[in-house]
Amino acid sequence: MENLQEKFKKAARVVKTSRALIITSGAGMGIDSGLPDYRGEEGFWREYPLYRRLGINYFDAANPEHFSSDPHFGWGFYAHRIDLYRKTNPHEGFYILKRWIKEFDLNYFVVTSNVDGQFQKAGYPEEKIYEVHGSIHYLQCTLPCGDSIWYNDQEVEVDFETMLSLSIIHCPYCGAVARPNVLMFGDFSWIGDRSDKQEDRFREFLQQHQDDNIVVIEIGAGTSVPTIRNLTLRLARSYNARVIRINPREYEISPPHISLPCGGLDGLEKIDEEVNPE
Ligand SMILES: [Zn+2]
Repeated sequence: MENLQEKFKKAARVVKTSRALIITSGAGMGIDSGLPDYRGEEGFWREYPLYRRLGINYFDAANPEHFSSDPHFGWGFYAHRIDLYRKTNPHEGFYILKRWIKEFDLNYFVVTSNVDGQFQKAGYPEEKIYEVHGSIHYLQCTLPCGDSIWYNDQEVEVDFETMLSLSIIHCPYCGAVARPNVLMFGDFSWIGDRSDKQEDRFREFLQQHQDDNIVVIEIGAGTSVPTIRNLTLRLARSYNARVIRINPREYEISPPHISLPCGGLDGLEKIDEEVNPE
């Protein structure tokens, strides 16, 4: 087996010799910024002791049903996360990738299943990002009464003891309860228009760069919600892209792709050391 150092060297070479970079990222990308890992009930319940007492796991909490049956409860979970994501600063890995883009003049696109808006916060332009499950920073009507999606600049306070929100945001068009424009579990009322437009831009990007050397850097995308991993493999197959998979647990991928068994920030930093050896 190839040693890890060799793999970082190889990954650095691939980054430097590519024309286009596609960053595909999942929940693992946020963890190094200090965002909670919702994987597994225990992890979730450590963050939300009340939900442990109520026996509610992540799948139950992230359910659109609460916004109609008990809006303060529905908003409690989401307003807490909105506040958390607003306060969180993206880790250095986001900026390492940006440096590579600049230094090696890479055409690039970001595809993420994260709804936290961290790439935008790190200064990536909106038109270079495809958020496959939407963004928690945008809202829509729960009904929905139309297909409007709007940016949320309001603050909603939450009583952490009860996980109930102190206020609720309403739809400005019909007055019904509003909700974040993220794809929840068992969600039939999510409005995908914003993500669809992002996807159109991503397709255009692929068309423009189909004959280029493409490197896909996949970071922290697990198999439990496989959207991102499936996309990575599709890019490898259909566009002959080289994949660098960074994942501390589910890191397997066969050559010529590069499997790096480490966390997002750690992996990016180690590649960066080889990109710019002193
Ligand atoms: Zn409405």
